[in-house]
Amino acid sequence: MPEMPEVETVRRGLLDLVKDRRIENVEIRYQNLITGDVDVFKETVTGATITDIDRRAKFLLIHLDNGYTIISHLRMEGKYRVSADPAMIDKHSHAIFSLDNGQKLIYNDVRKFGRMQLWPTDRLSENKSIAKLGPEPLSTEFTFENIKPRIIRHRKDIKTVLLDQSVMSGLGNIYVDEVLWQAKIHPETPANHLTDDDIKKIIECSNHEIDIAIKSGGSTVRSYLDAAGHAGTMQNSLKVYGKEGEPCARCGTEIEKIKVGGRGTHFCPKCQVIK
Ligand SMILES: [Zn+2]
Repeated sequence: MPEMPEVETVRRGLLDLVKDRRIENVEIRYQNLITGDVDVFKETVTGATITDIDRRAKFLLIHLDNGYTIISHLRMEGKYRVSADPAMIDKHSHAIFSLDNGQKLIYNDVRKFGRMQLWPTDRLSENKSIAKLGPEPLSTEFTFENIKPRIIRHRKDIKTVLLDQSVMSGLGNIYVDEVLWQAKIHPETPANHLTDDDIKKIIECSNHEIDIAIKSGGSTVRSYLDAAGHAGTMQNSLKVYGKEGEPCARCGTEIEKIKVGGRGTHFCPKCQVIK
């Protein structure tokens, strides 16, 4: 699944390729891709110009000049390609936007979990999916005052709490493991047992991890590629995710893999102990 840094990489790549392009035609080949009425989607999008692309957590926000935004979530395997080559269109291409420069913006999704929804741009904060998102790393809302109460009201393990996008958004399975390793916090620590220092470390390490991940174009742990087909390099910087059995980069102890809240979780049993 692409995580937030990968989606940010997609956003930047796409923006370069489609900004100020007019959508001349749109073909939806998989009707369930669209949340809401497919015909209204096609009518509203056709003839509109893409003015900008924003991102909120893992949602891409494709702004149009007619007051609407396409909210796009890639979920497991969704990918965008921009190409004039018809060979880029295959049975996994579920939405094809023909642009005024002869290029096509192609949405591919092998597993068909991704979704697109049209929403008025000035009311995006009222969209159910967007409204429930907690503050995300590197944003002005990502402060100790905002994050601490959201974490310590939970008795569950901190791994599960950090994955909850309503607590804070943008950290998925890979980066939560990395952040907890950096912060030296055991993933099964009850969230309400964390100290102020622990929470400050979580904030600091989340900002740091996400910053590095965005700069390196995200991780290519599964099949993620950016809009231009480039793989990210963040997987080379990961310290614990996927490293079970390898020595901890800090102390040399073997990294262990356990299940926490049903999710595969990597940690160093020496650096990360439950206090
Ligand atoms: Zn260690």
